[in-house]
Amino acid sequence: MAIDLDKGVYLDHAATTPVDPRVVEAMLPFWTGRYGNPSSIYRLGRDAAKALNDTRERIAGILQADPSEIIFTSCGTESDNLAIRGVAFAQRARGKGNHIITSSVEHHAVGHTVEQLVKRFGFEATFLPVDHYGMVDPEEVIRAIRPDTVLITIMYANNEVGTIQPITEIGRIAREHGIPFHTDAVQAGGALSLDVNALNVDLLSLSAHKFYGPKGAGLLYVRKGIPLWPMQTGGSQERNRRAGTENVAFAVGMATALELAYTGLEETNRRVMALRDRLIAGVLERIPAVELTGHPTQRLPNSASFVVKYVEGEAMLLSLDMRGIFASSGSACTSMSLSPSHVLTAMGFPPEIAHGSLRLTLGKGNTEEEIDYVLDVLPEIISRLRAMSPLYQPAA
Ligand SMILES: *Cc1c(COP(=O)(O)O)cnc(C)c1O
Repeated sequence: MAIDLDKGVYLDHAATTPVDPRVVEAMLPFWTGRYGNPSSIYRLGRDAAKALNDTRERIAGILQADPSEIIFTSCGTESDNLAIRGVAFAQRARGKGNHIITSSVEHHAVGHTVEQLVKRFGFEATFLPVDHYGMVDPEEVIRAIRPDTVLITIMYANNEVGTIQPITEIGRIAREHGIPFHTDAVQAGGALSLDVNALNVDLLSLSAHKFYGPKGAGLLYVRKGIPLWPMQTGGSQERNRRAGTENVAFAVGMATALELAYTGLEETNRRVMALRDRLIAGVLERIPAVELTGHPTQRLPNSASFVVKYVEGEAMLLSLDMRGIFASSGSACTSMSLSPSHVLTAMGFPPEIAHGSLRLTLGKGNTEEEIDYVLDVLPEIISRLRAMSPLYQPAA
């Protein structure tokens, strides 16, 4: 099978994914035919309410949760904001304290939210360190816990380097201390188990566009009994936890995408992992002075990330783009900023090395031919860029 370079080789599934045509199909009726407002009492409204409830049940099934524990939101970022601010304010109001524990490798949706709580709202926070693979040590969580700790929020899997955190263990520790535990599972959604009971989590964020659903659709799982203030007030939608007319079409799309992802998941993961391992092995073999970033085995099945010494990440991306390959350097959200990735910095990479980061994240549509094409093109690109770099001294 030849590669369609007009379409391009898409290797940035951690940034977003194409919507599965079956998801589009499932959403269509809810714009024109079944367009009712779920809060309206006549038939058209009741039909929308029923569709929304069915959707909630389908999602709860995958999370092993109760449907009432699912809150529909507008994106993963909103879910993180609602979880963190919602629990922090509710806990403080009950006199529980004002200390939050998080990690130093979180997505900005978590990191900046915690920082704002500290800077503007009088909370205190501990940003846990990570090891060279980006992994949080559960022992560090135990050491950071204080009598006034009101929330622990640690991501499930990292969006830049793919490292999977020991969240089951961290959740067990949080529970032993009676502290609510939130995990940003946006990058894990569609790849790893989302069984909230096995994972020991109290709150969990997901975003549909990371698993072949629409952009602008997310959810927050909140375990019964966990105190949560709404961050968006208005109507009584979502059991008074998130006001605003529900986006039925997108909720249906998200549920459909989630079900598709968790049907035959092992098979998909096996295939994607084989391609990923071919890519990683090829890059390390063919390109000198390259290091895999993130954990070698405890990593997302689709994630290959590297630091390439003596090269600028942006320069690699532009050259790859010219050859029809879409990749990223760290996270999509920070690609416009020139500061090195806070994730790689926390993992101990000096800024000049962190600037050479390259993230290739695979998806279910990628083929072996595409990976081989990348393995042909990338070494050329890097040696050309290095030839122009004053820093590069090839081994004699
Ligand atoms: C993409 C991402 C988010 C943000 O989700 P949006 O739906 O794009 O707002 C949050 N956390 C992680 C780990 C992500 O990868």
